[in-house]
Amino acid sequence: MKYRYTDKVINLFEENYGELKPFLNFNNAFQLLVAVVLSAQCTDKRVNIITDKLFKVYSKPSDLAIKNPKEFEDEIKTCGMFHNKAKNLIETSKILSEKYNDDVPANFDALVSLPGVGRKSANVILGTYFNEDRFPVDTHVFRVANRLGLADSDTPEKTENDLTGIIPSNLWMKMHRWLIYHGRTYCMARNPKCSDCFLKNYCRYYKKLL
Ligand code: SF4
Repeated sequence: MKYRYTDKVINLFEENYGELKPFLNFNNAFQLLVAVVLSAQCTDKRVNIITDKLFKVYSKPSDLAIKNPKEFEDEIKTCGMFHNKAKNLIETSKILSEKYNDDVPANFDALVSLPGVGRKSANVILGTYFNEDRFPVDTHVFRVANRLGLADSDTPEKTENDLTGIIPSNLWMKMHRWLIYHGRTYCMARNPKCSDCFLKNYCRYYKKLL
């Protein structure tokens, strides 16, 4: 059944959260790509602590392309999965430096062909840095959208389809950030704070609890 409260949810998010800035810190497209890759299974807060030091040294792909993987692992080891992340980021930096003139392409297919960059990451880069209308679906967006009833899907890709089908494209990135923020403040994976949640009257999950 089609979700009936999309406009109400949008209005309540706007009222409660307004304009949210990107959660990851960066100064250019390459640094955003690095931060996004590091953020897999790591908090944005932790990534920002790591990149605060990192970005003083690495501001373009060629800075990282020449790095020894073992040394780079040491610089990012507090964010988890550091072995793969270091390998992927150095490999990606080599490709960007050689094939894309030391820059990041504003192209979805080119981005997802880079090691460590998947659909969600490519959408974050295109939506955040290149201001394209994109709807990145991470674990928070997936959980909150499906609990609310905005989506009714069992995969991130189908959830993206559901969300882009009912939300105006100019609000996709805004809604992406609202859902993440809501997933961190009220709608956590365990013990969501439903009784305090301003969306409870429009939430499928909450209604099932009653
Ligand atoms: S009512 Fe509960 S499940 Fe629904 S959005 Fe709010 S916190 Fe999440």
